Amino acid sequence: MLNTTIKTTKSQEVFAAAQNLMPGGVSSPVRAFKSVGGQPIVFDRVKGAYIWDVDGNQYIDYVGTWGPAICGHAHPEVIAALHEALEKGTSFGAPSVLENVLAEMVIDAVPSIEMVRFVNSGTEACMGVLRLMRAFTNREKIIKFEGCYHGHADAFLVKAGSGVATLGLPDSPGVPKLATSTTLTAPFNDLEAVKALFEENRDEIAGVILEPVVGNAGFIAPDAGFLEGLRELTHEYGALLVFDEVMTGFRIAYGGAQEKFGVTPDLTTLGKVIGGGLPVGAYGGRRDIMSMVAPAGPVYQAGTLSGNPLAMTAGIKTLELLQKPGTYEYLERITKKLADGLLQIAKETGHPVCGGQISAMFGLFFTSGPVHNYEDAKKSDTAKFGRFHRGILERGVYLAPSQFEAGFTSFAHTEEDIEQTLAVARDVMSSI
Ligand SMILES: *Cc1c(COP(=O)(O)O)cnc(C)c1O
Repeated sequence: MLNTTIKTTKSQEVFAAAQNLMPGGVSSPVRAFKSVGGQPIVFDRVKGAYIWDVDGNQYIDYVGTWGPAICGHAHPEVIAALHEALEKGTSFGAPSVLENVLAEMVIDAVPSIEMVRFVNSGTEACMGVLRLMRAFTNREKIIKFEGCYHGHADAFLVKAGSGVATLGLPDSPGVPKLATSTTLTAPFNDLEAVKALFEENRDEIAGVILEPVVGNAGFIAPDAGFLEGLRELTHEYGALLVFDEVMTGFRIAYGGAQEKFGVTPDLTTLGKVIGGGLPVGAYGGRRDIMSMVAPAGPVYQAGTLSGNPLAMTAGIKTLELLQKPGTYEYLERITKKLADGLLQIAKETGHPVCGGQISAMFGLFFTSGPVHNYEDAKKSDTAKFGRFHRGILERGVYLAPSQFEAGFTSFAHTEEDIEQTLAVARDVMSSI
């Protein structure tokens, strides 16, 4: 039974104590619920599509630890594989067969990837790819898009989406001007703006990096022709195209957004799903470019825990589970049911909203839209989103605590979970 009112005494105690111990009481900013008001719930355990908090309340989860939990939390086969791997030790710091296995799976799945380097987070993957883009082209400038998040490295903290957008920070103090002076930005879905930047910076732009489907400014899909247009422009101006598929990889489709949209970038970053809930990131792409990475080539990048056997094991088992026939059809079906249902309910209860879904990724903006870019997304009624968020939380549905984050489903979510969620949403939308 899902709760309709919640008691959160223990969550409040733990979070109050955390304030003294860690900045903002958290290990990553959006978790603090700043933009939706109220206090975060403190988790005790997760399983399948559900979360239990320290007060014993149960929630249907649409955050999925920010993306990795596409098989549902603590899938029994992932847990069993981890138990077995654990007996062999927690870290090798040396080559292992497991790295070969996951590397082959990634190379087979992702069209652009011919060689891959494993790291420990999406941030690290994007840092590595940035250095490589610059080294390969011998150019320093890059183009990113407003509202796209590529981790917290200095060069990317320009109009960066995610927590930066959630907290309304234009940039971050502590980032030297020089670190971002080579970062050019354009509005998402605006090919003309990208072309203008290439014209103004001839022979200076190493490449274009983007979330092919944006999830860090809320959910924003690419307009027809946008990804193709970027592929053409980067070819025309001798620059690299990089898809940051840390979120979309193995989620939008098994081969990521590049498989879904049939546009192959030169380089790709991965994270989240490929770690199956353990810390993993990766970057990969064309063999001639990847061959520049040390020790094959001169571009330095390293990691004590990179290729960690537990993380590789969780990733391998997660990808194996995703390969089962019908997985993505199921994810598409339940997620569409959820996204369509939310839009319909909002319409019936008189709220201007827009949103959508691709495979197991969805979003809902409290604005009539349409939302093509971050400027459009910012027109959302974030105060109303906050009330909606709190309302459904108190009725047992856990959604990312920000208007500017996408939602995620898993194949552990049942039709009944979706129906329950829609009933809760109707209840709350009628009263906000
Ligand atoms: C989450 C995310 C990152 C950063 O990954 P971390 O593992 O949090 O460092 C980078 N790019 C995109 C698109 C992401 O969604």
